[in-house]
Amino acid sequence: MFALVLLLTSTAASSALFHASDSLCARALGAAPDLSCAEAGRGVALAASPEEAQRLAGYARAGEARFTAQFGRDIAPYVVISTPPVPQRAALTAAGFTHVLPWPAPRAFDEAARRGVEQGTRRFAASQNMTPAQTEEVVARALSQIPDAKAQAALDAGMMPHELGHLWFTAAFWPQRPEADADAPRHYGGPGPDWLDEAAAVVLEDDVTAAQRRDQFRALMRGETVPAVGPIDGRAMLLDLPGLLAREHPGLARAVAIAPEVAASGGVGVSFTPAGAGPRPAAMERVFYIQTRVFADYLMQTSSRPTILAEIAQSLASGRGFEDWLAEQGAAHGLPTSVPDLQGDWQAYAERQ
Ligand SMILES: [Zn+2]
Repeated sequence: MFALVLLLTSTAASSALFHASDSLCARALGAAPDLSCAEAGRGVALAASPEEAQRLAGYARAGEARFTAQFGRDIAPYVVISTPPVPQRAALTAAGFTHVLPWPAPRAFDEAARRGVEQGTRRFAASQNMTPAQTEEVVARALSQIPDAKAQAALDAGMMPHELGHLWFTAAFWPQRPEADADAPRHYGGPGPDWLDEAAAVVLEDDVTAAQRRDQFRALMRGETVPAVGPIDGRAMLLDLPGLLAREHPGLARAVAIAPEVAASGGVGVSFTPAGAGPRPAAMERVFYIQTRVFADYLMQTSSRPTILAEIAQSLASGRGFEDWLAEQGAAHGLPTSVPDLQGDWQAYAERQ
């Protein structure tokens, strides 16, 4: 499966030269006159054709609805912009858009993915001392597994709201993010703990993606090897809740490593690991998303509050730790009041899935 590594920009709109009464698309097109625009609720999608803009806006709109239901916070004006061409960030910021999310156009996605797959597979073949004929065979097989247009649309429906979620969540709960931290090499620069930053994004994914993650959770808990995850003792990792709460995002090292290349290519990088043949860090990254999805389910179901993540974020943004929040608020929300007790409760929940 794909893992997207995107460099994102969120900037406060300053001394903007736009008329507040203009529609979002009028403002966006003023900054990007060669593209087509479609409005979501609080933002727009820009793409080469009206159909593509509508398609992208649809995913963003669905993400907005889930964000509102689970976080109840405003969403600052944003643009999802199909790329190439390289987005004119400064012009879009001046037009009043707080967030700019470049999104790989299907063609760019495909070419970048093919390049990554081919390089990765050739390295793998070389490490296994494969003959040239064997190498060409495994490269062809790996390339044949790259998703077609329909599969890419399914990825977009899950991944775009996910990436928007990182931006919206950080802006909603940490609006005074110090400028000095803006370029810090963290996963998307969110100041919250990585598990919460990731949970806020994962819970905005579409239902199909959510169902896939829950299925994979159950399979890993049964001790099965999940081809889309790769060879890993997933069960042990899933049960280790203190590990999740303390863990740095497993994709961080990769995101940092790819950053210069990403910047040079206009802000979008795509890395690809052939399913089932992935190195251990990629498998860990996939388990992290699966665990985060089901831990968010656990928190919402146990507390009977769809907005539980927002309540936790609110507390952490005011400078408190998650353990403090549990001790003070856990009982009132039907949750254990310490991390060791939470671990026990989580294990029981995980076994029931
Ligand atoms: Zn993420």
